[in-house]
Order: sequence, then C-alpha cells, then structure tokens
Amino acid sequence: MVLGDNVFSSLDALMPNPVFSRLPTSIFQHMTGLALKHDALNLGQGFPDQDGPLSLREVAARQLIEGPNQYPPSKGLLVLRQAIADHARKFYGLEYDPEDEVVITSGGTEAVTGALMAMAVAGDELVMIEPTYDSYRPMAEAAGAIVKAVKLQAPDWQLTEEALRAVIGPKTRAILINSPHNPAGRAFSRGELEALARVVDGTDIVVICDEVYEHLVYDGKPHIPFATLPGMRQRTLKIGSAGKIFSLTGWKVGWVMGPRELARVVQNAHQFLTFTTSPALQLGVAHGLTHEMDFPVQLAKRLQKNRDVLTERLSKLGFDVQPCEGTYFLTANISRLTNEKDFAFCERLIREAGVALIPLSAFFQSGTPDTFVRFGFCKQQSLVEQALERLEKYLVTA
Ligand code: PMP
Repeated sequence: MVLGDNVFSSLDALMPNPVFSRLPTSIFQHMTGLALKHDALNLGQGFPDQDGPLSLREVAARQLIEGPNQYPPSKGLLVLRQAIADHARKFYGLEYDPEDEVVITSGGTEAVTGALMAMAVAGDELVMIEPTYDSYRPMAEAAGAIVKAVKLQAPDWQLTEEALRAVIGPKTRAILINSPHNPAGRAFSRGELEALARVVDGTDIVVICDEVYEHLVYDGKPHIPFATLPGMRQRTLKIGSAGKIFSLTGWKVGWVMGPRELARVVQNAHQFLTFTTSPALQLGVAHGLTHEMDFPVQLAKRLQKNRDVLTERLSKLGFDVQPCEGTYFLTANISRLTNEKDFAFCERLIREAGVALIPLSAFFQSGTPDTFVRFGFCKQQSLVEQALERLEKYLVTA
C-alpha cells in the first residue's frame, strides 16, 4: 500500500466545521449561474457595471509599477488612515486618531468579521438585524457565538426598541446593525438609532455598524452614523468600504474605526485574518477620499433616478414596491402578481422573462417572509430600462 491510498470513509468523517460544510451554494451564485445560462439581464448581482474614477486607478497603477509592493503596516498605510479620519471629521464631525483608532481591512466583509471576532467568544450572543447580509451569521457562528435576530417587518422594515429589547440579555456582547441596509434599502432614522442607543445605554454591549453604503442615501437625507449619537462613539465600531464609495467593489479595501481599546482588539484579529491590504489600492483610495468625493455625490443622483424609474414602472406592473432610502437595492412584494414563493418566481423570471433578481427569503434564517424580491439598481440606467422592458413585455402579455 502506498501512502495516501487510504481515503477518508466519508466527508462527515472529516468532521469539517458544520457552519461551512452545511452552507448551501449562495443564492447569488445560483441566480447568476441561471442568468448566464438564459442570457438574462442581471439585477441580482450587487455591483456596478461601470468602474469608478480613473484617477484612483491611475494612482494605484503607478504605485504597482514603481513600488514598493511589500507588506504595508498591518493596520494600513498612515496616509489612508489619515484620509479616513479626515473623512469622518468632515462628513460627520467624528474624531478618530489615525494612529490607533483606524484599522484598514481587506473590504467591509473582513472588517465585519474582524469586529465580530474581536467581540465574541463561544457562547456569547450577537444580535443581528434580519434580513441579514450573508456573511454575518456564518462568521459569527464559526466564532462560536449564538446569533439572535431582530426581524424587520414589511412594509416599512422599521427597527423598534421593543424588538431590540426582546432579544438582548446578559450574554449579549454586540449588536451588529447595517445602515443603509442591504437588502431592505432602509437608512435607519435618528429615532430608530436613538431607540438602539437607549437599549445599549448602561450595558456593556458594543454596537458594530456596517455603514458601507454611507454615501448612498437618497432624497437629500443625511447619513446618520450611530457613533454621532450622544455617548455612543465609545461603544461603536464603525465600518466603511471604498468599494462602495468609489464603485470599485473588486478592490476590497475597507476599514473599522472605533475607540482605541476596541480598535486594538479588531486590529489583533485583522493581523491574523489578512494581515494587510494591497498598498497600491490603499494609495488609490487615499487619493479618492481626498480628491474625488464628488464621485459618490453624482453616483447617488444617478442611482436615485434608477430607483425612481424602477419604483414607478414596477408599481404599474403590480409589484408592491417598498420604500427605498439608500443602498443599491429595492425590495418589492410579489403576492399581488403570483401565488409562487419568491424563489420559484425568480427562477421563472430568469428563464422566461430574461431578468435575474434575488429572492429575499435567502436573507432570513427561517426562510420567511417568502414573497419579496430584491432588485439591484447599481447599473447604468439603460440596463435598468432594458430589464423593465423585458418585465413589462413578459408580465403584461403573460
Ligand atoms: N456589508 C454589506 C451590507 C454589503 O452589502 C457588502 C457588499 N455587498 C459588504 C459589507 C462588503 O463590502 P466589501 O466588498 O468592501 O467587503
């Protein structure tokens, strides 16, 4: 017998981490695979179809050629940490010390993972808002934490003090919120954030705020970081992403800001997650935050127009479109259109109408509600209109 001839009796015998071994193919992969097969227009994928500013890419390209291309400091290049601290001061009046209160990560996803790992040990409870961005729960559970969900309810997807109080307890270590919220399209109001502040005040609960869509709030409303509420900065880890600000989602440059006692622990987790992030991309983002902040302003205007076109024409088709205040996403109830569940409806639309969406049930642990779909409108207006034409042709004549 040759070494290596002995195969494992089964995958189960390997005892891989069930959090990952039981994870099904992601809904995005499934719907995108079907979309490719049926040549459907893809409003499922959450990334723009136009790259952000050339100047960021030029700065990064020059740095790639001229170098150095070696490990930057684990917490990130000082020029970028400084630019992020300046951005927080300029837009929100928040003060962070770039020396030890800003950590650069490989995207917002790593930032969330680092923050969750920094906060929770096995048996601790982490509160999340459902519908939930797909990385949150598996990463919390892989760390051994127990997830407690606060389920937002349509039609308004409101966050209430009552719902928050119902899930917190002595084991709650952190509450993870996402505002503006993917997929609900909510930008939580000052009133809702104040409710959260009342709930955590006087406790040892940390609030982790995924604010990657901070510059995509519509109708002239401001983005309200939770850390700006009285007394809340000291218990908040605030997360951002350059991918979303500059339509460069493939760059995966993100950050976490927080009081130094918490930022230090996130940094310690980050150093063993990815250690650091491409120096060329960090320099590109530092340039963007300093010189290209008109880009997200114009992007928000374009996306707001897409949202309005979608809202108007989908409503005429019988979709019950939910209010959308921010992000790349809009949700709609389909129960006036069909008796099918969201998943079956989305598969049918790909096959028969040539348009790909995402069923919202994928964002709920229980799989319900199951009569909502998510439209991603971070695309050029012409593509959104083409998708609408296909839906109109299909649903009106079907
Ligand atoms: N958080 C939310 C709510 C998101 O929607 C996304 C991207 N879809 C991320 C985090 C990830 O950001 P990044 O690409 O910077 O990792």
